[in-house]
Parts: sequence; structure tokens; C-alpha cells
Amino acid sequence: MKIICVGRNYAKHINELENEKPSEPVLFIKPDSAILPNRNPLVLPDFAKAFHYEVELVVKINKLGKYIDPKFAHRYYDEIGLGIDVTARDLQEYLKAKGLPWEKAKAFDNSAVVSREFLPKSNFADLQDIHFSLKKNDEIVQKGYTGDMLWQIDELIGYISRFFTLKKGDLIFTGTPAGVGKMQLNDVFTGYIENREMFRIKVK
Ligand code: ZN
Repeated sequence: MKIICVGRNYAKHINELENEKPSEPVLFIKPDSAILPNRNPLVLPDFAKAFHYEVELVVKINKLGKYIDPKFAHRYYDEIGLGIDVTARDLQEYLKAKGLPWEKAKAFDNSAVVSREFLPKSNFADLQDIHFSLKKNDEIVQKGYTGDMLWQIDELIGYISRFFTLKKGDLIFTGTPAGVGKMQLNDVFTGYIENREMFRIKVK
């Protein structure tokens, strides 16, 4: 399986990083080796100094699809979860400045925290009306609302599947809202969809 990540899908996060508003979604991929195994602490590697959390709603693809019409995209997923796109921000800035690919800063081992539990989308009346959040230790550091996405889930699936065939089990990280910040040793991160705890991880 693979993980397709969407960059810059929330206007406020774009402002925070002083990025331009893109005319099309920014996409990048993490390999399956990026997934942090369940219950493991998040051990930060030594090749960068500033690791950032980015909490994101995650969509799990349920069947093969290519050139999916956004109108029918809802048939390609049944469940949503929550994750952290762990980013080596200093390394990413360095690579961006050099015009180089971001993989080393975004796709390294354990850079994808994914909730063990996924929730049936039928739990939600409207997928573009979901609140999610991230707590660092006991403080809420990120609050997301899917109604603020620049590209909605079904539009993303349509767009992504023009470039990458989607397969059963693939995960889409749908972008992070404002509030990204540093991860430090012994921090505990807890992610929520509405009021439901989806994951809890410790940084080591
Ligand atoms: Zn992200």
C-alpha cells in the first residue's frame, strides 16, 4: 500500500508557512515503511532537528480506481481515520530551497502516525462537517474542520487518481489545518475526531 498526502489544503496553514495558495492540490507520497507500528513510541531520527506534527484526517481506499469521477468518489472509501504527517521541517526547508524532492523530510520511517481504529463514514451526516483536533500533552495545538478544506475529499480522490492508481488499503492524508509546531522528547500527542480519541503516542 501507499500513502498519498495532500499539502496546503487549509488556507490558514498556507498563511502560517508563507506558502502561495496553489491552483491545484500539492501531492506527495509516503511508502508503507513510513507507518509507525501500533503502540510504538515515536522515535525521532537524528538527521534533522525540527520535527513538526501535522494532524490530518485520513481516508482509507476500499477498491481499485483510476480516473475516478469526483461524483463517484464516495464509492471508493467507507472509513476515515486520523493521522500525523510527521515532518522534518528544517530538512524540508533546506530541500525546498535547493529545489530538491522532499522525500527525506516527509517519507522517512515512522513519519506516518495512523490511528488503529477507522470510523465508518456512515457515522457522519456530512464528511465536510467534521471537527478534529490534536493535543500536545494536555493542550490543544491544532483544531481542524473539514468544511475549511480547499479541496474536499471527493475532489481530492478524483484529482489524485488522475496520477496514481488507487488500490484497496491505500491511505490519503488530506492536509493539515493551522497550528503545526515542534515535537519534543517525551511529548504525548493525542488525536481526536469530534470527541473520540483516535490515537495517543509518545515521542522518544
Ligand atoms: Zn501534511
